[in-house]
Amino acid sequence: MGDRGLIVGADWAVTAALDEPRRNWAVRVAGGLIDDSGPEPELRARHPDDDFCDGSGCVLLPGFVNAHVHLYGVLAHGVPAPAAPVADFWGFLDDYWWPLVENALDHEMISAAAAWVTAELAAGGTTSFFDILEAPNALPDALSAQREAVDRSGLRGVLSFEATERMGAANGQAGIDENVRFIEACRAAAGPRSRVSGAMCIHTTFTCSEPFIRQAFEAAASLDVFCHAHVNEGVHEGRWCAEHHGMRTLEFYDRIGVASPRFQASQCVQLTPREIEIIGDTGIRVSHMPLSNCEVGGGIAPVLEMLARDVTVGLGSDGYLNDMFAVMRGAFLLHRAATLDPGAISADTVLHMATEGAARTLGLERVGRLEPGWHADLQLVDIDGPTGLPTPVEAHNLVDQLVLWRNAAHVGKVMVGGDWIVDGGVVVGADMDRLRARTLEQAARLWS
Ligand SMILES: [Zn+2]
Repeated sequence: MGDRGLIVGADWAVTAALDEPRRNWAVRVAGGLIDDSGPEPELRARHPDDDFCDGSGCVLLPGFVNAHVHLYGVLAHGVPAPAAPVADFWGFLDDYWWPLVENALDHEMISAAAAWVTAELAAGGTTSFFDILEAPNALPDALSAQREAVDRSGLRGVLSFEATERMGAANGQAGIDENVRFIEACRAAAGPRSRVSGAMCIHTTFTCSEPFIRQAFEAAASLDVFCHAHVNEGVHEGRWCAEHHGMRTLEFYDRIGVASPRFQASQCVQLTPREIEIIGDTGIRVSHMPLSNCEVGGGIAPVLEMLARDVTVGLGSDGYLNDMFAVMRGAFLLHRAATLDPGAISADTVLHMATEGAARTLGLERVGRLEPGWHADLQLVDIDGPTGLPTPVEAHNLVDQLVLWRNAAHVGKVMVGGDWIVDGGVVVGADMDRLRARTLEQAARLWS
């Protein structure tokens, strides 16, 4: 790119979710990073030879970071299950999700789902994501099958295999080994354009033994990555732990010495006050999935209590509704309803959890803001609604307008690391008809 950069300007910019929106603002992109920013006329005067991208009618904001997704989940949409799931969360897993979906996945299905969903994520303004793949019969090299599709998407992806002993010790070990191999392979292949990395991941306390959990966290420490687990997604796990370990889930993780900032805990819905304290005191990072928590009848996560304790919280879709505008709306509405308080959570806080907060839960550095030195991961969203462009007096509720009245279809352009991956609402280089046909074919195989 040399000295020539690209200036991206828009009527409005939200450069960091918790800062005031800026009017007629622009950022300069060079070498994959934001390297300057300012009012558009001033920035263009400073860099007269740069290319210019005109975001008139749009708001410029950081790309979304989806802190928890299951790319393979798309294959279950519309699955003709003989019995609808089910009386409780355990039944959902044991009678439906494990035997009919996860255990049946193979490399071709995983790859087709990854190609479709990464395109869907990109089109909706997501620039980074964390995927959790559980497919015990697709070992080994399930993650490599997924990686090819993620590489092609241009997204920043952290991929993990959800290791579990529910099919036996050998399969559990193969899951941990899969992660170790993948983390090392990504590092060996790392170059300036490489955006895929790995993380350690286990399922839950009710499918993983204490030595197994310790081993996963030790491997994570020696590779300096985080370790993820699903925690208390409904009432089941806390009760199971009380029965089998004589204490609640997070008390157990704390007792065995793995409660720390290295732990990325997803869900965290049914927590006792003591468990919230443990999360706050030990620096466990949390991902919050407001919509899928509703879907499985898990409950409402005590996110406000965690935020009050300065817990790092990011939003995720859980592979349910992957439109991050819908996920943000879910968080915005759910916690207000639950507390009977319209001031319980602000749109800014929600946007923060969908950008910088989520990036922090994944240890992605300099991702989630549009400031000099940060990655050029951004989106332009059409904000020219039925009442026109926001005026300066509306700046205070610009983010509310984004959270409440925008959706994936309003995203016009998306950039990751200086490369456009969506242009004019179209995913660059993706033949959506072909991707759809392939997903359809693989869903039919899974269902049969
Ligand atoms: Zn999940």
